[in-house]
Amino acid sequence: MAQSSEALETFRAEAKSWLAENFPPSLAGQAGAVLRAESVDRSNPDLDVWIKRLGEKGWGTPTWPAEYGGGGLSQLEAQVLNQEIDAIGAFNPLIVTAGMGITMVGPTILEYGTEEQKKRHIPKICLGTTFWSLGYSEPNAGSDLASLQCRAEDMGDHWRLNGQKTWTSGADVSDWCGVLCRTDMDAPKRDGISFIMIDMNQSEIETRPIRLIAGASPFCETFFNNARAKKDDLLGDLNAGWTVGKRLLQHERQSQTGSSSGMGGGQKRSLRDVAEKYVGLDAEGKLADPDLRSRLADHMMEARAHSLTIARIVAESRGNAKVSAAASILKNAASRVAQNRAELLLEMLGNQGLGWEGEEYNADELAAVRTWLSGKAMSIYGGSYEIQNNIIAKNILGLPENTQRG
Ligand SMILES: Cc1cc2nc3c(=O)[nH]c(=O)nc-3n(C[C@H](O)[C@H](O)[C@H](O)COP(=O)(O)OP(=O)(O)OC[C@H]3O[C@@H](n4cnc5c(N)ncnc54)[C@H](O)[C@@H]3O)c2cc1C
Repeated sequence: MAQSSEALETFRAEAKSWLAENFPPSLAGQAGAVLRAESVDRSNPDLDVWIKRLGEKGWGTPTWPAEYGGGGLSQLEAQVLNQEIDAIGAFNPLIVTAGMGITMVGPTILEYGTEEQKKRHIPKICLGTTFWSLGYSEPNAGSDLASLQCRAEDMGDHWRLNGQKTWTSGADVSDWCGVLCRTDMDAPKRDGISFIMIDMNQSEIETRPIRLIAGASPFCETFFNNARAKKDDLLGDLNAGWTVGKRLLQHERQSQTGSSSGMGGGQKRSLRDVAEKYVGLDAEGKLADPDLRSRLADHMMEARAHSLTIARIVAESRGNAKVSAAASILKNAASRVAQNRAELLLEMLGNQGLGWEGEEYNADELAAVRTWLSGKAMSIYGGSYEIQNNIIAKNILGLPENTQRG
């Protein structure tokens, strides 16, 4: 049932006062530095306090059921909470400390997990104390994921995993990994796959970090050499991993639509301010470069339309937005908006947007270059731009398949 605006305003007051009491002011506006670093700097005591308080309140996972440690809020309440978080320059560090636990694995365990699996894994994700990675892609199975060859054998009392994954984000620092493995070598490609949750703290798993163009090493090659998983770490039914895995990817895309906040979005620099500073204004007070002015206006309208579309979807669903194939449209739109923004920002900076390091560039200028470079990955991870277009064509527009079936 839709919540009345009075009820939401009462919740807003509650959220505001809880944040005022619990968010350490020294962290205000630090989202960029904290969340976009390669790993969370736990040496800052205020950050540790904030992680603990937010986790214990369940507001790092605001819409998850309270019985497993989530906030138990409606989507609309969560939206209000995010607005209040943005308003004071706060952010949700659990998005980083839980790895892919919050955005992908947790929602999938809540949907497919047994009661025992939910009780074992979800509270630790809500507290941000276990870091999850995801082992889907392999050297010969990216867009064509169903070709994966990593194998899990039933050894009676446990699963034995052998094979290689690649591009595994955070594998080297993760406690757990959700792995898609082949459990039936004779079944058709999509029917012989299972989703197994594996404890990464074992010597039979080797991770080799890969360095990205933007300088960081956010992902790894991951090797399973007779690695062990418990029998009850199978998520969903045996050989039903394709269904479970696809659902998880919908959650991943949902998290990349630009709808989930907590990343300190309210603290983003305004492009207009940057343009005024670096490009300057003409005698009439307009941006001095008319061509740039027109492209900037186009971008600002597109970005605004994207955020209004997301707000409309949440409102139309009466606050109970569920993930669906439409996440593919929003993911592509979000990638385009973010990549255009990064491109425009760099163009405005001119020569100051060419720096990699050095005192002649300030921190914002250096960050703009790295954001531009790392932003290229947005239209690749979670299923590439072209693959999303295929999903939109098939599942939303009902067009015939244009690719070969495996
Ligand atoms: C930063 C980053 C983090 C990642 N993290 C993870 C992770 O944690 N875990 C994980 O398992 N994977 C991860 N990935 C891998 C990601 O899911 C794959 O890169 C992606 O699915 C594409 O697969 P691929 O790289 O093998 O490219 P390919 O599948 O080889 O595709 C190459 C190109 O061909 C196009 N293409 C392929 N097939 C089609 C088709 N049928 N129709 C039209 N065009 C097509 C693609 O769009 C792409 O442009 C990550 C990737 C990046 C960049």
